[in-house]
Amino acid sequence: MICAKCGDEMRMTEKDTSSGRDIREYACDGCGHTDWEVQGPALWQILSDDRKEFEAAQADRALAADSGARRERSQTGRAGIRSLWNRLLASFGKSR
Ligand SMILES: [Zn+2]
Repeated sequence: MICAKCGDEMRMTEKDTSSGRDIREYACDGCGHTDWEVQGPALWQILSDDRKEFEAAQADRALAADSGARRERSQTGRAGIRSLWNRLLASFGKSR
């Protein structure tokens, strides 16, 4: 890798494949600039990015489902169910 600051060839200081990616860190001996890059074909990176978005969307859904379940659990007894119905009916009434 060429240093973005001074144009010297950078020295690879670290190679991390523990996350399944080939991440390489570089340091420039000339100016001390550090940089990193992920090795691999561009398509593989794009697919990986798509997967990340997919996983993030799934996590959002899981989070929403979880908070919904928590709300239901916190409303114990008939009073909770009735107030839920009232809120539902109220929202229906407003939309009409
Ligand atoms: Zn440099």
